[in-house]
Amino acid sequence: TYNFCAGPAMLPVEVMQQAQEELINWHGRGCSIMEMSHRGKDFIKVAAQAEQDLRDLLQVPANYKVLFMHGGGRGQFSAVPLNLLKAGQSADYIVSGAWSKAAAEEAHKFGAIAVQGITQKTEEGLRSLKAAADWHLDPKSAFVHFCPNETVDGLEFTDLPATDVPLVADLSSTILSRPIDVNRYGVIYAGAQKNIGPSGLTLVLVREDLLPAAGATIPAILDYRLAAENDSMFNTPPTYAWYLAGLVFQWLKRQGGVEAMGKLNQLKAQTLYNYVDQSDFYRNDVDTRYRSWMNVPFLLADERLNDKFVADAEAHGLLALKGHRMVGGMRASLYNAMPLEGVQTLVTFMREFERVHG
Ligand code: PLP
Repeated sequence: TYNFCAGPAMLPVEVMQQAQEELINWHGRGCSIMEMSHRGKDFIKVAAQAEQDLRDLLQVPANYKVLFMHGGGRGQFSAVPLNLLKAGQSADYIVSGAWSKAAAEEAHKFGAIAVQGITQKTEEGLRSLKAAADWHLDPKSAFVHFCPNETVDGLEFTDLPATDVPLVADLSSTILSRPIDVNRYGVIYAGAQKNIGPSGLTLVLVREDLLPAAGATIPAILDYRLAAENDSMFNTPPTYAWYLAGLVFQWLKRQGGVEAMGKLNQLKAQTLYNYVDQSDFYRNDVDTRYRSWMNVPFLLADERLNDKFVADAEAHGLLALKGHRMVGGMRASLYNAMPLEGVQTLVTFMREFERVHG
């Protein structure tokens, strides 16, 4: 089977096999890594290796802390303003789709301002974005928050906001899918359940000068300084998820790292978009300049066939293609663990479905 779920998403088969082999007797210790103390030397080694591998993969500069936190993407919707906004300050939140809108709504409780009007329709009625230079950001903001890949909308942009204030990015659905220049960001965060590992675990990269002041009034498990000073072990971290993330990072290194993933992910996405674009039976309504490599929504010309499409796909081992309820139609999520063969199998299925029902 190939699992196209937007998250929690499929993990690499090799990783799942290794985890299965190690599950109840990790490295001959007579118990699972899940059952070991996070303060013991075995787990500390696993944790440190995972951090090092991630640093290698993304070339994380030495002046950035890597935090393994709880609470998922939405936990960070709260953590970001709580850690970065000081009394009387505001922040700009670029709203480009469903998730950045949710982040802005949460941050509004703490004084942030949603920057609307970024999305627009093209003459052809496609969903599109204004150029980054026209986003009118406040130069006095504490930071600018954005979500470069909108998981629900299938809309992605690579232009960074044109501003001198620190950039805070929700990379939940795009982290590790291609190279990025970490230096350009103040904070990067990502829920793990798409490209990293099990849900709940949350990765945060934060530039050291942005850590909150010691003693700031921040809930302890969301406090970046406390997490950094305690090597992400202020409380019990999600140890098993951290271990699995480490296996995924090692797998990524074996695949050739984010450079190789970027090329493969572009090819996977292009394979599906090319097929959708030449068909009258399927369509994608996102401006080609802003189409996501990770989440490909597509609509059937005859919406009455939606349920049949999903059921037949499942019978062919192609799972979780039903689109998000806000967008409708279908959505194929093509995160790192999805092989090219998975996309090719999907296209073959789509072609046959079109032949029978078109
Ligand atoms: N941000 C993005 C871009 C997402 O895709 C999601 C979930 O799919 C979230 C945030 C929310 O993550 P969580 O459910 O872990 O809170």
